[in-house]
Amino acid sequence: MMMKITRCSTAVVESNYDYTFVRIHADNGVYGTGECFFAPGLTSALRAMFPLLIGRDAREVDRLARLLWRKGSGAGAVAGYLYNAVSGIETALWDLLGKSTGLPVYQFLGGKVRDEVRVYADCHAGNNLESWDSMLVERRPRWLDEAIAREADHDVRYDPSLYWERARAMAAAGFDALKFDIDSIVILTGDELHRPLHRWEIDRMVECVAAAREGAGDRVDLAVDCHWRFAPSEAIRISRALAAYDLLWLEDPCPPENWRDISEIRIAGGCPILTGENQNRRHGFWDLVAQRAVDLVAPDFQKCGGLLEGKRIGELAELQGIRVAPHNIASPLGTIASAHVCATLPNFTALEFHGSDVPFWSKLVKFTGGDRPVIERGRIPIPEAPGLGCELNEDEARRYSKAGETFFDD
Ligand code: MG
Repeated sequence: MMMKITRCSTAVVESNYDYTFVRIHADNGVYGTGECFFAPGLTSALRAMFPLLIGRDAREVDRLARLLWRKGSGAGAVAGYLYNAVSGIETALWDLLGKSTGLPVYQFLGGKVRDEVRVYADCHAGNNLESWDSMLVERRPRWLDEAIAREADHDVRYDPSLYWERARAMAAAGFDALKFDIDSIVILTGDELHRPLHRWEIDRMVECVAAAREGAGDRVDLAVDCHWRFAPSEAIRISRALAAYDLLWLEDPCPPENWRDISEIRIAGGCPILTGENQNRRHGFWDLVAQRAVDLVAPDFQKCGGLLEGKRIGELAELQGIRVAPHNIASPLGTIASAHVCATLPNFTALEFHGSDVPFWSKLVKFTGGDRPVIERGRIPIPEAPGLGCELNEDEARRYSKAGETFFDD
């Protein structure tokens, strides 16, 4: 029987990023919730899409996602932030369908091949009490001011001892995969893409990675993020300098637009290469996979087009023996949604966790059928309850609701 969409709404939580939620109600009295990757004007784009959904059959998830792709073809064409909106809507539809049928979301993606999902902790440059708006301008919501006031050495940055301490602490918390930024060492120059790196800069990167490696110990995998900061020639120097540290991957060593640059770094450097967080739909990953330009892809399921499209990207990568380590900066709700996809991918490596510095992160969801931590000893046990298996904790979320945005129907 048809499950007619009756109402849609949004809410935004001002966290380390804008956690943007979309909720879809159907005429069976059930609703589903999804999360979108942040973007300027995102809730306005969502509201523009909602009339296309009202009265449609919520069970036709792929049909509706494709309708939104097509209707966004003028404004967004094959890529861009409209896919952030589509991704959140698509996730909300899966949650709605799962709750309406009594099935967990992973069942709609072919069923799971694992019962828990390995999580890697993003450790930034050691210290990362920060919050960014949708154009990546730094901001200070009240929760952040309060957290910074509690921290003695907040202004110390890019020091190997911070990498050591952070790696030691996160390993002790049970994570067996960590990621650190090294590009932030040169961030303040503003011209890093256009100049050769100084010897001391590469030496400092090596010192930081060596410190993280020592702090983490031999049983913890280590990845390093460059945030597209370097020209390919410099990225090759970095990759060679770090080759001895057996990295899980070197992430986004150069700008993402040209797969040939990435391929060149992969071949000439010594580290496995990961990229993909900027890409939308399978098409964004096609060359990277077909040309074997990478060792791992990092689709962001709150951005790439949704959970089913994420599953398809994973399958595309599998054809070439390429692994998947999804990018994720979401709230626990989006993180759990991503974990449902990861549970179904045989070539999955680890899912990002980007909220360890947000004091209220894990309080933002409630699990269906009983309280439990989101992440236990570096793993997310896959919820077996219908839909995503969790709900947004609205009391907690409302406390950090972004000014000027609606909170669902309020
Ligand atoms: Mg990254």
